[in-house]
Amino acid sequence: MGDGRSSLDLQTDRAHGARIYDYILGGKDNYSADRAAAEATLQVWPALPVHMRANREFMHRAGRYLATECGIDQFLDIGTGIPTSPNLHEVVQEVRPDARIVYTDNDPIVLVHARALMSSTEQGRTAYVDADLRDPDTVLNSPEFRETLDPNRPIALLLIAIVHFIEDDEEALAATRRIIDVLPAGSYVAATIATADFAPEALAEVRRTYREHGETLRFRTKAQAARFFDGLELTEPGIVQMHKWRPDEHTEQADDTDIAMYAAVARKP
Ligand code: SAH
Repeated sequence: MGDGRSSLDLQTDRAHGARIYDYILGGKDNYSADRAAAEATLQVWPALPVHMRANREFMHRAGRYLATECGIDQFLDIGTGIPTSPNLHEVVQEVRPDARIVYTDNDPIVLVHARALMSSTEQGRTAYVDADLRDPDTVLNSPEFRETLDPNRPIALLLIAIVHFIEDDEEALAATRRIIDVLPAGSYVAATIATADFAPEALAEVRRTYREHGETLRFRTKAQAARFFDGLELTEPGIVQMHKWRPDEHTEQADDTDIAMYAAVARKP
């Protein structure tokens, strides 16, 4: 076939987190298994769209905050997801046209759509790496990472709605620490981390529904979420539910029971 795509297995017979999220956000890159999982989850937790939009809005606010208030112009976004405009580079290049962004995901459907992530400004640059967070050296040794980002200058690592797909805490922490360790002082980590703390019964049903459709989810308490920021300095307001992290005029109103992720931005000293 020659286009390299013939070997991609999109596994359209089972639901994928990236495509459930795409469906709920109103995208078109999803299949019937994903829509069935999304609809079943809506039955047990109607707040799912509010929650998912709050996640995307946090990513926009955190990106803008890092670019404007923290002086960051280099970004490593792991678990990028199916492109949904505005993507991270569109948000940060609006304020820093020279910003450079490396995107990473392990789902082949994101690779198929990665071209939409390449619409960089002329002064800036974007790149995409097909890699798994659990194998951080593949990302760090990739030509895309090495040629796009300067490892001697601060980099913001974004882990937005990804670590709940890694059930084992030690595995998730080891992977993220491996990356943070190589980033220079003055770098940042921005993350959203799934929790059942605010609606335990509904979220237990969400977890069961996802599992029935082939996806596993790991919810973490605030203390478990805090471990991802060990050794880092949390910026204000610390670890809070996503809708409470520096809300602005675009932030959708939500009840606490509708928001099942903690959010935080922290600086590497
Ligand atoms: N960060 C985006 C998308 C979140 S959806 C946003 O917040 O809007 C979660 C994404 O993480 C999916 O695209 C999924 O494919 C990806 N993902 C899940 N586990 C992963 C892993 N181990 N390595 C890399 N990407 C992963």
